[in-house]
Amino acid sequence: MSTNEIIANAKKASRTHLTEIESKTILEELGIATTEPRLAKSRDEAISFAKGIGFPVVLKVSSADIVHKSDSGGVKLGLTNEDELARAYDEIMASIKRNQPDAVVEGVSVQKMARPGVEVIIGMSKDPQFGPVLMFGLGGIFVEILKDVAFRIVPLTKRDAHDMIREIKGYPVLEGYRGQEPGNVPLLEDILLKVSDFADKTPQIKEMDLNPIFAYSQDVVAVDARIILE
Ligand code: ADP
Ligand code: MG
Repeated sequence: MSTNEIIANAKKASRTHLTEIESKTILEELGIATTEPRLAKSRDEAISFAKGIGFPVVLKVSSADIVHKSDSGGVKLGLTNEDELARAYDEIMASIKRNQPDAVVEGVSVQKMARPGVEVIIGMSKDPQFGPVLMFGLGGIFVEILKDVAFRIVPLTKRDAHDMIREIKGYPVLEGYRGQEPGNVPLLEDILLKVSDFADKTPQIKEMDLNPIFAYSQDVVAVDARIILE
């Protein structure tokens, strides 16, 4: 499905929240690499997709009603074989029934377990005064506890994308702190510009959250994505 079709479908169903799979389909269309999740509608389908993708895989509940998938027990990481996957599938369904009994669940997303990288967050939200604004930060404690983030107003210039990454205090982590693998900063700048351009041209988008993106020395991949419509 194309971005326009995804937005039209959601509108028809009076949904403001896109699923991870829909959100990542849009990112792929923008040229932003993702973990390419596939929607499985049964345990058997999840197993067959996992075999095609290759273990280890990740299972996540797929529902437009569930915003924080792990908080609801809807994410299982690093599944290495069919038995683990089958158990994870049942556990996800049981957790959702317990924690969000009213959620409409369309299935689970099956995707490759991405290797660890530098965790980055890119967000888009709308300020009543300035309109769409982009946020950049490092994942985990950097954003949640230290509020170490940079903001720029859309549309971003190349200079904005360049500067906002370098102005966060955690920037040395992206350069490869204490022998750790660095994150590819030019590719992150490119994602910022793509999200900016998309937000600028698509007023129906209210909020975007690429959280986390894993950055490696040679590439970057969006591991989770959430898009909210107006
Ligand atoms: P949510 O934010 O809705 O709880 P996420 O999709 O972000 O769910 O998953 C929670 C965490 O699991 C992520 O922050 C990330 O650390 C890890 N994770 C999710 N998907 C993958 C993946 N494909 N590969 C590796 N780690 C993942
Ligand atoms: Mg997330």
